Amino acid sequence: MSHCHCVNCRKAHAAAFSTNLEIHPRQLTFLRGKDSLRSYRTDSGSHTAFCTTCGSTLVCWGDGDPDPTYVCAATLDTEFHGKPEFHIFVSGRVPWHEIRDQLPRFERNSDDPI
Ligand SMILES: [Zn+2]
Repeated sequence: MSHCHCVNCRKAHAAAFSTNLEIHPRQLTFLRGKDSLRSYRTDSGSHTAFCTTCGSTLVCWGDGDPDPTYVCAATLDTEFHGKPEFHIFVSGRVPWHEIRDQLPRFERNSDDPI
């Protein structure tokens, strides 16, 4: 699980960053409401899906992925005890948000350390 500071996540969540849980594409099963999902593709090639009933951004994935690879952790209804492990796309961080934890930070993806 990571905090993503990319512009797509910031805008989709109207927040300084989003906290996303990386999943294997086939790990995700929608129990209900899948018909309410709509997705869009950003200029940078990522895809984001949101619920047309409540407006929440729920999942996202890259152009090369056929299914969602990230779940927006704050939308989970079930109890989850995971903790964020690092920050990604710190290069896209808004200037008014200061990262104050000691988690590892990556300029872009987690294989690209600062
Ligand atoms: Zn992001």
